Amino acid sequence: MQVTFKVYRKDPEKDGKPGRSNYTLELAEDATVLDALLKIRDESDSTLAFRGCCGRGYCGECMMRVNGSARLACTAKVPDYIKKGPEISLDPLRNVPVIKDLVFDWDAFMWNKIKEVKPWLETEGSPVNGENLIADAAMQDLRKVMSCFYCGMCDEGCTVLPVDFDFLGPAALTKAYRFAFDPRNKDSREQVKIVEKPKGIWDCVHCYEADEHCPRGIEPTKRIVALRDRAFNSGITHEAVARHHASFAASVKESGWLDEGRLAVESEGLTNVKGLMKLLPTAAKALARGKAPIPYMHSKRPDADKIKKIFEKAEQEEK
Ligand code: SF4
Repeated sequence: MQVTFKVYRKDPEKDGKPGRSNYTLELAEDATVLDALLKIRDESDSTLAFRGCCGRGYCGECMMRVNGSARLACTAKVPDYIKKGPEISLDPLRNVPVIKDLVFDWDAFMWNKIKEVKPWLETEGSPVNGENLIADAAMQDLRKVMSCFYCGMCDEGCTVLPVDFDFLGPAALTKAYRFAFDPRNKDSREQVKIVEKPKGIWDCVHCYEADEHCPRGIEPTKRIVALRDRAFNSGITHEAVARHHASFAASVKESGWLDEGRLAVESEGLTNVKGLMKLLPTAAKALARGKAPIPYMHSKRPDADKIKKIFEKAEQEEK
């Protein structure tokens, strides 16, 4: 089959301006995108920069966008991408500093963030024969998480990173989960304290894109929620977040739905005059448009009593 690859190019040693090179080549019917890139490099253009290693979908090195979607080049079969036409576009990941062509800065993208979450185990007591043995059953929950191979697909799919690149991101937060929930960890609060800070777990918007993107089914969003629960239940959560949670729950429990005005005021803190003053410009704008929810003037939903009973049952069960 004959296919044309339109490949993103950028060379900081030349003018550094992004462009595109087109390569048309003959490929075997079972060729992958990585096969095509190797052929281009070997036969047409040795200056093309890209990464690839295991060729088996295991190491994650060859992550790039194929026709706009993040894929591992070594598992992306060319025939799957030419159903609508014999052209395939190849680009580096979104919102990541590019070093050259399809090679981007993995440190900035993921490794520096993973380092931040203290990704190692500190155990109580001395290891026996150099090992910290534990019953297999106690590790069941972590087995899945430990199969993460750092491909970064979850970070690529994340909807927060394009607007805030400093967000730790689902890959690093999943790594924090791996150690925070390890039963051998002598202080599992350590990782929780790190990720509870700004740019950590509270900045996740629960879009579940990370779960959709993860090729290993690790469900990074579920891990972030578990870290949040642990932060909240162990009293690590910073005050504004705790107030926000308490107000949200109280509002839904009492009226069956969210009192947004009350939430804004109580999240800032009723005695936090400076914080409350900050809300005034937004409140004034909303009021001018007839959209300002007046705190505590909130009608009950028709089935509010049923919702209240659900809360009471959950509270009872928790006790
Ligand atoms: S959690 Fe899944 S998507 Fe994210 S880096 Fe690990 S394997 Fe890749």
